[in-house]
Amino acid sequence: MYDFTGKVALVTGGSRGIGRAIALALAAGKASLVLNYAGNDAAAEEARKLCEAAGAPRVVLAKYDVSSPDACQKAVDEAVALGGLHVLVNNAGIAIDQLLMRLKAEDWQRQLDVNLGGTFHMVKAATRPMMKQKQGSIVNLTSVVGEMGNAGQAAYAATKAGLIGFTKSVARELASRNIRCNAVAPGFIDTDMTRDLPEAARQKMLENIPLARLGTAQEVADCVAWLASEKASYVTGEVIRVNGGMYM
Ligand code: NAP
Repeated sequence: MYDFTGKVALVTGGSRGIGRAIALALAAGKASLVLNYAGNDAAAEEARKLCEAAGAPRVVLAKYDVSSPDACQKAVDEAVALGGLHVLVNNAGIAIDQLLMRLKAEDWQRQLDVNLGGTFHMVKAATRPMMKQKQGSIVNLTSVVGEMGNAGQAAYAATKAGLIGFTKSVARELASRNIRCNAVAPGFIDTDMTRDLPEAARQKMLENIPLARLGTAQEVADCVAWLASEKASYVTGEVIRVNGGMYM
């Protein structure tokens, strides 16, 4: 557990899966939280209660689509109203899997707008308060497929590869203001996103993982919480893989 006493963290897609585990890890360190989600109110309400029970002094739910710049700005303003914005985790993401020949231009664009555009809008909005504080930690969720590619995921992989370049550029641009920016690249993690995979595809995937199992949301959250904390105060522009050895 890391200490986030007196800090405010905003987690996009914080209601389910990896985002919820990240929110809980920050809550356990006593961070106040703004939890973003897109549509599932019941999951968000459950996440809020769990975060309060875990130790978060304040938890605010923020329902909006991260592809909207105005909504991202509003959420940052809500965080600042809680006492600042010390940690931003850009976790909200979607995958619309399709072979290239069948990939619709609108599905390509939607993944760019949410995964890459959403992170851009959030970071842009967060920059001003973080600069004022002279302190901040940003963690972006990329993916193993952003580094190694995957058939049927050209658009998703493009967004996740783009996030790596974005993370390193932001790290260089904001380091002089004591704002760090890193990325975490999960492998095959057991969440709603991967639960629908056909059994044959799941087995094939497992064969390529040296640790021979799926990862857990908690294992990703532990890495994100470390990067978000002062324990990683000399780490910026880094991409940390949490993938069981799937890609080295
Ligand atoms: P998930 O279980 O599908 O949860 C997605 C979360 O993002 C939910 O809270 C969802 O809210 C929210 N969300 C989706 N679209 C949004 C939008 N447009 N605006 C705001 N919030 C939105 O996903 P996950 O598996 O935990 O993945 C989390 C992140 O890790 C993603 O960026 C994903 O690409 C990355 N990742 C996952 C894996 C894996 O194996 N699972 C591997 C590598 C990387 P609602 O529930 O309200 O829709």
